[in-house]
Amino acid sequence: MANEAVTQVQEIRDITKIERIGAHSHIRGLGLDDALEPRPISQGMVGQQAARRAAGVILEMVKDGKIAGRAVLIAGQPGTGKTAIAMGMAQALGSDTPFTAIAGSEIFSLEMSRTEALTQAFRRSIGVRIKEETEIIEGEVVEIQIDRPANTSGAKVGKLTLKTTEMETVYDLGTKMIESLTKEKVQAGDIITIDKATGKISKLGRSFTRARDYDAMGPQTKFVQCPEGELQKRKEVVHTVSLHEIDVINSRTQGFLALFSGDTGEIKSEVRDQINAKVSEWREEGKAEIVPGVLFIDEVHMLDIECFSYLNRALESDMAPILIMATNRGITKIRGTNYPSPHGIPIDLLDRLLIISTKPYTEKEIKQILTIRCEEEDVEMSEEALEILTRIGMETSLRYSIQLITAASLACRKRKGTEVDVDDIKRVYSLFLDEHRSTQFLQEYQDQFLF
Ligand code: ATP
Repeated sequence: MANEAVTQVQEIRDITKIERIGAHSHIRGLGLDDALEPRPISQGMVGQQAARRAAGVILEMVKDGKIAGRAVLIAGQPGTGKTAIAMGMAQALGSDTPFTAIAGSEIFSLEMSRTEALTQAFRRSIGVRIKEETEIIEGEVVEIQIDRPANTSGAKVGKLTLKTTEMETVYDLGTKMIESLTKEKVQAGDIITIDKATGKISKLGRSFTRARDYDAMGPQTKFVQCPEGELQKRKEVVHTVSLHEIDVINSRTQGFLALFSGDTGEIKSEVRDQINAKVSEWREEGKAEIVPGVLFIDEVHMLDIECFSYLNRALESDMAPILIMATNRGITKIRGTNYPSPHGIPIDLLDRLLIISTKPYTEKEIKQILTIRCEEEDVEMSEEALEILTRIGMETSLRYSIQLITAASLACRKRKGTEVDVDDIKRVYSLFLDEHRSTQFLQEYQDQFLF
């Protein structure tokens, strides 16, 4: 059941990856050297060295894959790079290690219980690396004859003549094969492979050893060379999918299409039990291994006491991911109780956390972050404008000054300028209020608002 679906998940993932410029898109890693020492500015990261070093140590634990159920808290004032550090960790881990980011408030919904939402987040952060071996046929295309387009019904719609090392063979083409041929733009003279199990066709070029060919098949595809003259080659394919994806695929009420919409609803515990049993069977047979990933919960003070006790329990599991939480609160009430606690987290959970703290930035660091953001957004800015923006960053917030980059660049474009100047910054500064001025405005005019 799950094996086929795993391939489908991989394909969906490839389609849905769309890159946009987001708040943290300039972050490409933690910016550490080989000895895990943070470089002052690297991979989009600036300053915050102690926190980055600590995050690097935690990454090593994750990469080792041996330690399950560790929990980390990144605590610090707003805009001090807590989320940025978590994103840097995700980038450094690479796409093979699952990384899930949620905000504490996200788990409160009418569609599912809080513990179900947390369970799904946990299982999204646990990867299962599945190894599959399939037999493939390699040969040179002699002729392709397509009689009918791929979308008409009917089994045989064409012929493919393939010359392998030993013989020339004619294959009847089914709809699936034609789709594959069209997608790979196969022509006579190409060297192709056909997966015997799925009928999937791939065009590899003339040699298996060229890096480009590996890339075309995804970095995880490994080819095992066969002795000369042998018709079939064995190919080991490795997919990493999350436990949650396997849950959804096998949940009879959902089906794998739910992965598109993200609307998976609650998943029955029997389904999860079955999946757990299946996965441990695969592990024993050497067909799969568990890749504990990272679950990042931002604004963790938004969780309530029930959620915290769930987290405490979930961390005990040997498959548990590394849990990274972030908060900008000091001593505050634990949600759902009247008890104040540091960061709004119960003492028993706090006790098992590794705590990393982030510090406010210096003026120089703010300027460097703003410079990086200008590059990321492809915005030219004069030195004086950057100076003013840095000062705004110091006096208001880093996030506000980052937001002004986009707005100022629009103002600049409107006046057909090529470089954001001081006036553009002034214009958008007066147009968009920062939090402090907005509060002041509210206080001054509070009689006129509805409460
Ligand atoms: P909050 O407590 O309000 O959630 P936060 O501590 O999570 O804030 P971020 O969202 O990480 O702060 O930072 C605000 C912005 O500044 C983001 O766009 C982030 O990418 C950027 N940023 C923060 N720290 C750094 C850093 N050290 N290097 C580069 N960019 C940074």
